[in-house]
Amino acid sequence: MLDEIGFIWSNRYTEFNLGKSHPMNPRRLLVPYELFNCLGILKATNIHLFTPSPASDSEIQLFHTHKYLDAMKELSEEEGGYQLNLGLGSGDCPVFPEMHESSRLVVGGALEGAKRIQNGDVKQAFSLLGGLHHAFKDRAAGFCYYNDAAIAIRYLQKKYGLERILYIDTDVHAGDGVLDAFYSEDTVLGISFHESPQFIFPGTGFSNEIGDGAGTGYSINLPLYPGTWDDLYIRLFEQVIPCIWETYDPEFVIWQCGADGHFRDILGHLTLTTEAYHYLGRRIAELTNKSKAQGKLLMLGGGGYNPDSVARVWLASFAGVTGFKIPDESPIGWVDYCQKEFGIKTSLQLKDEPIDPKRIEQHILIEEANNQYLQVLKEEIRETSVWKNCESFQQK
Ligand SMILES: [Zn+2]
Repeated sequence: MLDEIGFIWSNRYTEFNLGKSHPMNPRRLLVPYELFNCLGILKATNIHLFTPSPASDSEIQLFHTHKYLDAMKELSEEEGGYQLNLGLGSGDCPVFPEMHESSRLVVGGALEGAKRIQNGDVKQAFSLLGGLHHAFKDRAAGFCYYNDAAIAIRYLQKKYGLERILYIDTDVHAGDGVLDAFYSEDTVLGISFHESPQFIFPGTGFSNEIGDGAGTGYSINLPLYPGTWDDLYIRLFEQVIPCIWETYDPEFVIWQCGADGHFRDILGHLTLTTEAYHYLGRRIAELTNKSKAQGKLLMLGGGGYNPDSVARVWLASFAGVTGFKIPDESPIGWVDYCQKEFGIKTSLQLKDEPIDPKRIEQHILIEEANNQYLQVLKEEIRETSVWKNCESFQQK
């Protein structure tokens, strides 16, 4: 029997529009949405479409400060305003009229998914616009205003009393806002695989950042050297993740499945193809099914700035989780839509061809650098008693 899946979407998601020339613009949402639509996914009998309501002030304040929430509201009504000490009005996070309203709708999407899953209406859910992981409690950063993932985690803890939530973030940028939010707590295991912050925003997320106090060992950052390819990525995933996942035995899983690690993304520098994302989706669903969560998985779209890649990566991730069979060829209706609406020439094949690592410049150096990052993580973890039963961390 097919699992019941929630698909969270609002036509008003497009109001989260940071500007025509800003990478975070509605094209990157509409192109994936239309692909899911043209493939008939949205009409499948086991897919439930949910339209979120905007999150309330008290929900937003499960994570954000009162002062920051007030500034978000006030600046949304003031043309040309800014408060750079709160990150508002920067190039990355411009002030725009729907800033507060559209951001609270994003939070509403994550909360809708969390509730529907936790109440048993669906087993998994996917909110295309979500996983805005760079927002801190009192400031906007990296295209993110309200941190829907951190709020959803606090909501699950408060409303349902969950004590072990696993947050896994595979966006090309480190999940700094979410990992920082729970850095001193062991009630959230935060895992982030991302391009090394030596080379890309946000400049944190090194492998020696493993949490502090009660949270020591519960933040796992694994940086990846630019150029990292599918097989290498998967090998690192398998070395680090399954053991700590099984040991932690989470009650609920949130996956920020950013698409910007794809080799055609315009901001990231990794060499991942759709096949790595399909693998990730399958493994994350398997691990979630085997744990106390019993399959409860909330997917939040995250980043990704080449609409064609974003669409195919999210499809691959979703198919990995749900078992949906991806056809080889792009549906013609989608190809036409992207060309007509946005002048985008999409790929005619939905899956990428494999990339031969030997053709990647400096592939030996990339492999060595990643081994070093992993070594630092292992050494840091060995200093703590957490994950002492995980062989992969104990071996030199
Ligand atoms: Zn990103």
